[in-house]
Amino acid sequence: MASFNVLGFRRRSWNTQTVLLFVYSAVVTCALVLVVSKNFETPDQIIAEERMAAVEKLENAQVQAANNMAVPEVYVDAAAEDAESFDNPDVEWTVEGEETQPEVKQDVLLVEKGDHFIGLLQRIGMEYLEANQAAEALKEAGYDVRGLRAGQKIDIVKTVDVPFGELLSVDKIVIEPTAGIKYVVTRNEDEKYVAEMEQMELTVENRSAEGVINSSLAVAMQNAGVPSSVIGNFINIFAYTVDFRSDVKKGDSFKVLFDRKVAPDGKVVKNGDILYAELNLGKDTISLYRYEDLNGGVDYYNDKGIVLKRTLDKKPMEFRSARISSRFGWRRHPILKRRILHSGVDYAAPKGTRIYASADGVVKRAQWAGGYGNYVVIRHNSEFSTGYAHMTGFAKGIRPGVRVKQGQVIGYVGSTGRSTGPHLHFEVIKNGKKVDPLKVKAATGTNLAGKDLQRFKTEVAKIVAMMEGQTNYATVDTNQVEQASEAVAPVATQNPSSVN
Ligand SMILES: [Zn+2]
Repeated sequence: MASFNVLGFRRRSWNTQTVLLFVYSAVVTCALVLVVSKNFETPDQIIAEERMAAVEKLENAQVQAANNMAVPEVYVDAAAEDAESFDNPDVEWTVEGEETQPEVKQDVLLVEKGDHFIGLLQRIGMEYLEANQAAEALKEAGYDVRGLRAGQKIDIVKTVDVPFGELLSVDKIVIEPTAGIKYVVTRNEDEKYVAEMEQMELTVENRSAEGVINSSLAVAMQNAGVPSSVIGNFINIFAYTVDFRSDVKKGDSFKVLFDRKVAPDGKVVKNGDILYAELNLGKDTISLYRYEDLNGGVDYYNDKGIVLKRTLDKKPMEFRSARISSRFGWRRHPILKRRILHSGVDYAAPKGTRIYASADGVVKRAQWAGGYGNYVVIRHNSEFSTGYAHMTGFAKGIRPGVRVKQGQVIGYVGSTGRSTGPHLHFEVIKNGKKVDPLKVKAATGTNLAGKDLQRFKTEVAKIVAMMEGQTNYATVDTNQVEQASEAVAPVATQNPSSVN
């Protein structure tokens, strides 16, 4: 029993200690939480709480006064003043570190897919009505903000308050939709947005470069400081004549003359056309001059006005490694189950693969043609036409009478008509008769004659004179061209349609 009593007492005593300890620690924890949370409160929260406390104090004072309790009037007045001050806009409530000051900052907004002008400005804190007014001002100056495209940039000058970064005003908006043309939005005295178009005077300059090929043509041109867009165009000029992998050897060389547009500040805003392109391949030299004929067609010719003969592209599609699934010739048709002439060559390729025009020419038909499904025929010259069957669809703008360039997308691989799976059925038609595309030797292009030939000769003389005035360029001035390629690159990505 004694032991029970002892145990009972001890247990009771232990319980009391525990309860005391628990209460003590709870109080300490609460105090800590209060202290910590107070410290992490925002200035707004602190002001709100202080205000609540002041209002409470005033109410208490008023209640006490109303109950005729011994409260001095001064105390009630002081409490009222205290509470009122929170509603008084003249009293500035600053918390330590909250003092702000306006600062002018620059910003660049990059337009992404799906972005629109007003939304972009709202995102940096501009009010809808203000952004809308800026858009209206631009419209009056001749720029429709609906024309904004992904990749374009909008330069902004704005005033923000520091350190919070809250937008106070947008003071200037600059959009440059095409090289050399800027729309500038500013605020007038009435704080309304007004816009103006600024056009830069661009001068056209000619530049030339030459070099010896050690690894590849593109690398050699790059090393000579030729801008990348010009390299691409140079390769395109020769693409269907020269096989760059097998025909170009170490020690071969190139020469190029191109024009470019330069802004008054010396910045190159656009690299333009190649006026002269030369490739020295072993003993062969191919020299080509650009000429725009009287019909507005542009091509490259040798100094005699003879066009660079382009062979038909015999696998005219994006998928260059496409497998031949059926050759030209007599065979048993898998669907018709009888011997017929397979009038073209079949390339198996995934549905949607881009199909190119085999050579320059005019679209003769682009329509459904029974077993051929969606079918396109292009006439290249008096001798050759090419046909493309089973397309899933035609490329935009492809219809009879339309002129197409070699390599231009005319449609997409499909399996329309009598077809067992997606493939391109490609035909070469020589003098009205279908021939084996893989065996035919065909070249296209029209030589210059008559008036065109006369004009061309004056053009060649001009280009030669330009080349002579440029002789020092490649060795001395490559640094400047490199800058040019840097300056031009963003323009090319922003606005590909305006380049070339
Ligand atoms: Zn076929």
